[in-house]
Amino acid sequence: MTAYPYEVHEYDVVVVGAGGSGLRATLGMAEQGLRTACVTKVFPTRSHTVAAQGGIAASLSNMGPDHWQWHMYDTVKGSDWLGDTDAMEYLAREAPKAVYELEHYGVPFSRTEEGKIYQRPFGGHTTEFGEGPPVQRTCAAADRTGHAILHTLYGQSLKHNAEFYVEYFAIDLIITDGACTGVVAWKLDDGTMHVFNAKMVVLATGGYGRAYFSATSAHTCTGDGGGMVARAGLPLQDMEFVQFHPTGIYGSGCLITEGARGEGGYLTNSEGDRFMERYAPTYKDLASRDVVSRCMTMEIREGRGLGPEKDHIHLHLNHLPPETLHERLPGISESARIFAGVDVTKEPIPVLPTVHYNMGGIPTNFWGEVLNPTKDNSDAVFPGLMAVGEAGCASVHGANRLGSNSLIDLVVFGRAAAIRAGEVVDPKERNQPVNESEVDRALSSFDRFRNADGSVPTADLRLEMQKAMQQDAAVFRTDKTLAEGVGKMRKIAAKIDDLKVTDRSLIWNSDLMETLELANLMPNALATIVAAEARKESRGAHAHEDYPNRDDKTWRKHSLAWVDDTTVRLDYRPVHLDPLTPQKDGGIDLKKIAPKARVY
Ligand SMILES: Cc1cc2nc3c(=O)[nH]c(=O)nc-3n(C[C@H](O)[C@H](O)[C@H](O)COP(=O)(O)OP(=O)(O)OC[C@H]3O[C@@H](n4cnc5c(N)ncnc54)[C@H](O)[C@@H]3O)c2cc1C
Repeated sequence: MTAYPYEVHEYDVVVVGAGGSGLRATLGMAEQGLRTACVTKVFPTRSHTVAAQGGIAASLSNMGPDHWQWHMYDTVKGSDWLGDTDAMEYLAREAPKAVYELEHYGVPFSRTEEGKIYQRPFGGHTTEFGEGPPVQRTCAAADRTGHAILHTLYGQSLKHNAEFYVEYFAIDLIITDGACTGVVAWKLDDGTMHVFNAKMVVLATGGYGRAYFSATSAHTCTGDGGGMVARAGLPLQDMEFVQFHPTGIYGSGCLITEGARGEGGYLTNSEGDRFMERYAPTYKDLASRDVVSRCMTMEIREGRGLGPEKDHIHLHLNHLPPETLHERLPGISESARIFAGVDVTKEPIPVLPTVHYNMGGIPTNFWGEVLNPTKDNSDAVFPGLMAVGEAGCASVHGANRLGSNSLIDLVVFGRAAAIRAGEVVDPKERNQPVNESEVDRALSSFDRFRNADGSVPTADLRLEMQKAMQQDAAVFRTDKTLAEGVGKMRKIAAKIDDLKVTDRSLIWNSDLMETLELANLMPNALATIVAAEARKESRGAHAHEDYPNRDDKTWRKHSLAWVDDTTVRLDYRPVHLDPLTPQKDGGIDLKKIAPKARVY
């Protein structure tokens, strides 16, 4: 028996996470008449979604012709043909509806002269199935779109009957007879323990950018959902695909939105050369993110970087009218001043590719149901568990996510999960009794960390992991760096058993919380580097110098990684190639989305 008493809360659904995806799911679940709790380690409006700047993609056609099929095509191509066709169709088709829904909820979008939602161009978004000019598809509330969306969704959730448990840290899932039946959480401000007993758990815990040294993501982005899933014996999918955003501010890693290039910004090297014109003659600085990041890295490696170390690139906005900067990009103007000491109306911003987004995550279908692939059924569903947002992998982003496709993923799939839960969760049915032995297991592991008395402080081990990942699982990868990285990461992961936690209290113990977060980051990091070492091709964000080409015959498949302490077992599952709607009923022509070379 554990020494920790705990309080039990009974719900139909418990959503872990209050970012855009968690709030949209929470709101929808409550609308379905399900008793819903939302558990979150930070106050909802402090979730990383608040930092999203550039916007949310949907083919509204407010600034010129657009079509959901063009959005779908761009997403398929952006994913480097690794996304699931059904999920990508669902995303592109539902996107306009989801944006209008946000508008009606009260999101203060920027407006065109006629009062329509303002849309800006973003990398990889085109017309005519990639044959036409760039399209203005990214709906924006200045450069604070995530802020606007998150605050609006939180307000809406409060209107419904969802209950919030704020500053509760979810420790582990409760698994009973092959199904998820709840989650164990630690209340950070008073040290009490809580069991949320439920018929459905939704993981909306965000990404794991903090596995790397330089990331645009918040310090709270520690892949807690992935950690919990790995400990429950379930796989993580496509973890080798980590997006580097081309324009993190040099030094701090703070993001300068792609919207800056959408508004006319461009990159130069030390010779003042607009080098993207050489690499991507058609879309130039608005080629997709993996492409731009690689080109910048190549310029730096060939000695054309800026600064005394020749290690960064310049982003110019100084040619744009100050009014445009003031109206459309006020937030990044401020970030550039604070974090780079630059006045964007006069000087270029020093930038560098920085870890930004995790395409991989917990595998789901397009309803958000978590998959537990078996030999006979690669789409088998694990009952009682869903995952949405950056924590999940539906998979719409495949090997590379297009800018502004994540915010739309949050609301489209948050909503889809709620619709699905309305079908599979019966509020009249009684919950299973609390699985005490599972609660004990979670609390014993918590207690081990609380009393950890080894020799390595958490912050030191975290830094070691972040540096290894930054060095060996970076923009460019080789057999040698990846093999070295796997070896290093195995040794680093083993040191979890030798951690030293100095604070033993239960109230606002940030040392212990960061230790639990590190224990979650570790399986995510391990899965990333092991899956990367195994994938002998280049696709999307996985640029492998020893295998520079994409190999669809062998590698057009999702990787699955089961992580158990320091060992990772890999397997693969097929990519979904069938669309939701056949062409004769108005669906996309499959020939349009057949794999071809990915040039911009
Ligand atoms: C700087 C920046 C700018 C971006 N700009 C854009 C953009 O313009 N357009 C776009 O489409 N995408 C953008 N993205 C990507 C996009 O914002 C994110 O992918 C998305 O917001 C993630 O949302 P989420 O709901 O999955 O999780 P998050 O918003 O990260 O929220 C995670 C939630 O989970 C909770 N949580 C986590 N672990 C636990 C735990 N153990 N216990 C309890 N609660 C927990 C947290 O409290 C939080 O509420 C940007 C990302 C960054 C970092």
